[in-house]
Amino acid sequence: MAATSRVQCKKCEKNSGIITCNGCLEELCRRCFNDHRQDLLKEFDNVVYEHDMLKQQLETPNENESHPLLKQIDEWKKDSINKVKQLAEQCRADVVNLLDENKDAFINRLSKITNTVRKGRDDDDYDERDLRKWMDDLKELKDELIKPSNFCVEEDKQQSPWIPKIRVRENFYDQAKAKNVQTYIDISLYGINIWNVHDAIINDLPRTNNHVEGYNSRLESNFPKHPHIYHFIELLRDEHLYQHHRAEESDMQIRKRKNLYNNIDSKLKELHEEHVKRTITNTELAIKCGRAV
Ligand SMILES: [Zn+2]
Ligand SMILES: [Zn+2]
Repeated sequence: MAATSRVQCKKCEKNSGIITCNGCLEELCRRCFNDHRQDLLKEFDNVVYEHDMLKQQLETPNENESHPLLKQIDEWKKDSINKVKQLAEQCRADVVNLLDENKDAFINRLSKITNTVRKGRDDDDYDERDLRKWMDDLKELKDELIKPSNFCVEEDKQQSPWIPKIRVRENFYDQAKAKNVQTYIDISLYGINIWNVHDAIINDLPRTNNHVEGYNSRLESNFPKHPHIYHFIELLRDEHLYQHHRAEESDMQIRKRKNLYNNIDSKLKELHEEHVKRTITNTELAIKCGRAV
């Protein structure tokens, strides 16, 4: 029996644990510790293998050409072409069937013309009117052969896109931007309702103070620097009249705003609604609003 209070090896549970591995903190006997190092060496080899494979992949020329994203594009191309081919085949078959159906009717009509023409020749009693009529009938038949009156081929404009368009989108901009914006959009601190001009947008009020600026510069241009008091009063009275007219005018009809501003406002409202419906996140809302104005 070994001396008291010796720690048993975690692995063999026979010998005393004399060495502790710093990684897994297990106390092991000398033999098990050696085995443990061997295991770690195997795992190390795995790391080296992965590393070398990756290095080789990076250094292989034209390695990009077999990239999964390119494969994804190729797949899309193949699928789309197949869809187009299938639909084209199906439509071709339909047209051939309908043309066949028409053919009998055409042969029927032509034989009627044949009969009248033949009778005209046999009786030798035709004149310009007959000739014109036969010519017209033949032309009508010929036209209808090329462009049947009972069916056509057309683009289905109502159907939603049947081959989805693909594109390459770079994530970098949004990610970097989102990180920056995220810092400012702690919703618990700054609720959407206290965001800049939130109420103004919801209530159709101006987002900017441009109208106040306008009023300011109007006063500045109408009033001289040091007016005589009577002149000043006169000017004030004129100004009051003018603003009174403006107010009455705006009661009658809303002054036209530039389309650009209306478009921005409706875009912002749209975004707000999307946010209310939770189809966009706080961050997305902030970024998209920033882009809209
Ligand atoms: Zn052991
Ligand atoms: Zn260990």
